[in-house]
Amino acid sequence: MTEIIDEIFKSIPKDKISDAVFEGANIVLYSKDPQFIFKSNDLVRSTVMEIKKRIELRPDPSILMDSERAEEEIRKLIPAEAGIDQIIFDDQRSLVFIEVEKPNLAIGKGGELLQEIKQKTHWVPTIRRSPPIRSPIIENIRGVLYQNSDYRRKFLDRTGRRIYNGWMRSKRHEWIRLTYLGSGRQVGRSCILLQTQESRILIDCGIDVSQENEEAYPYLDAPEFKIDELDAVILSHAHVDHSAFLPYLFKYGYRGPVYCTAPTRDISALLQLDTIKIQRNDNNDPIYTQDEVKEFVKHTVILDYEEVTDITPDIRITFHNSGHIIGGAMVHIHVGNGLHNILYSGDIKYSKTSLLAPASTRFPRLETLMLEATYGAKDNVGPPPQEQDEIFAATCRDIFARGGKLLMPVLGSGRGQEVLVIIDRMIRNNLIEPVPIYIDGLVWDITAIYTAYPEFLNAEIRNQIFHKDNNPFLADWVKRVGSTKERQEVIDSDGPCIILATSGMLNGGASVEYFKQLAEQEKNAIMFSSYLSPNSLAKRVYSGETAIAFRRGSGQEILTVRMEVHKLDVSGHADRKELVAFVNNLNPKPKKIILNHGESSRCLDLASSLHKQFRIETIAPRNLEAIRLR
Ligand code: ZN
Repeated sequence: MTEIIDEIFKSIPKDKISDAVFEGANIVLYSKDPQFIFKSNDLVRSTVMEIKKRIELRPDPSILMDSERAEEEIRKLIPAEAGIDQIIFDDQRSLVFIEVEKPNLAIGKGGELLQEIKQKTHWVPTIRRSPPIRSPIIENIRGVLYQNSDYRRKFLDRTGRRIYNGWMRSKRHEWIRLTYLGSGRQVGRSCILLQTQESRILIDCGIDVSQENEEAYPYLDAPEFKIDELDAVILSHAHVDHSAFLPYLFKYGYRGPVYCTAPTRDISALLQLDTIKIQRNDNNDPIYTQDEVKEFVKHTVILDYEEVTDITPDIRITFHNSGHIIGGAMVHIHVGNGLHNILYSGDIKYSKTSLLAPASTRFPRLETLMLEATYGAKDNVGPPPQEQDEIFAATCRDIFARGGKLLMPVLGSGRGQEVLVIIDRMIRNNLIEPVPIYIDGLVWDITAIYTAYPEFLNAEIRNQIFHKDNNPFLADWVKRVGSTKERQEVIDSDGPCIILATSGMLNGGASVEYFKQLAEQEKNAIMFSSYLSPNSLAKRVYSGETAIAFRRGSGQEILTVRMEVHKLDVSGHADRKELVAFVNNLNPKPKKIILNHGESSRCLDLASSLHKQFRIETIAPRNLEAIRLR
């Protein structure tokens, strides 16, 4: 056993404990004595205070009530209104997962129902929300985790041993080093290697979808990167430029942990599977398969915001809300015992959006900030949101008055849901009439994930969902388009409607199908809401091109665009003003700022302005450059 377990046995009687294992950084003790377990709350708490690590005391699997009878008991104890979906037993870990529609009712006041279940059955219950919209991806992910619980137990124990191996060793931490394997003066393929004497950590591992071949992927051939020495991966959020290259690590043998939030795990897996599909459709060999996406899921370790966790003997991380996408995190990295503190911003939004709260700015300590610079140049300033909403509503009213349809090509992940909530709010405030809102393509799958994790949304939306039953994603006017036949029915229908469909730049997907059939009628309109890359069809349409050629069989078809063309600015990124305000409000202020995730000129512009305004050292590394922090 490791030193830390010996340390625990100084205060908890060893003869009462049947097994001691790790679940990542958590230490789990099993006991065959139910009396001891239920009377030891104070003892466990004081031990936790002393060693400053999480300890859980669980009944030994040998004293559990058999699962059939336990299920009967649980169904008797939990009120019917909670809506039990399914009950799953993990008999290796003495855990029972109870999936319900209304978690609050299943937990009971102050968790009293959970206590009762534990006392009667000895199983340790965990309540999970079943998504109000059926989500095949969440079902699949939970299935993978349940089916591999035996493997997960061993994997988490191995992860813990790595963390605690060397615990309390008074080691001198002499250096910290960051190497940019991607996202140095560019947007796309975020990937940074953090090294100390003790640890090797990868932060994000994404794909630049606007590039082809090696340019699309991080520099994993950099001399300092050795996959078999990698201790852990930290994933800030689900967007493909941060997450989509992760399965590739598993293809080449990585079997360590990936730390992320639950929504990030689910959306990442969905987008990774989509990446395989897109590469197949483009007649390319996919760079990884579904099996490797499954490996990614099997090796995730889920953290909530503000949950402090050791990931190696000298590195401790905490996630904070980034305001960018559901489950998106800024990563606070504490190195050594007070040696150095880093904040990796990932992608941030520093104003309240319809779905999320703005990025956090308070941290216990901070020496180095790694900040995104997507909109880092002086002129990268978005319009005030209030004004935007009014223009959007007025535009909708005009289109509906003439019986037109509004097509909104959206990004599946994040922006689509943001647009949906803005429309829902306009309808509830009687700014526009309640026309049907059709949701087609990947947007629907990701919307289902949003409904499963309301606790990650801002207080206003949460309140709307929990207390008023005004869930914007489940409103009467929101309708799913699930097949080609249904899509044609939407196109042929009479009267006004709004259609949200991927892709956002009209480079394939359902939005193109709608566009082809709606573009020639003057009464219709199209409204873009995502970044439009220079060569995209969306950019051409937005720039006023009216004759669009499409391939049809062996010939060509020319489409004449007569529909109105608009743009809605709902960026998930902080604009220049917000980036400066974010640094201004950071408490404490960092001593060094590293700019990344931005075109070269924008990184440099922001670096020089922040240096002038705050008198802080700034740097904008290129890919393959390394920075020594200590
Ligand atoms: Zn992002």
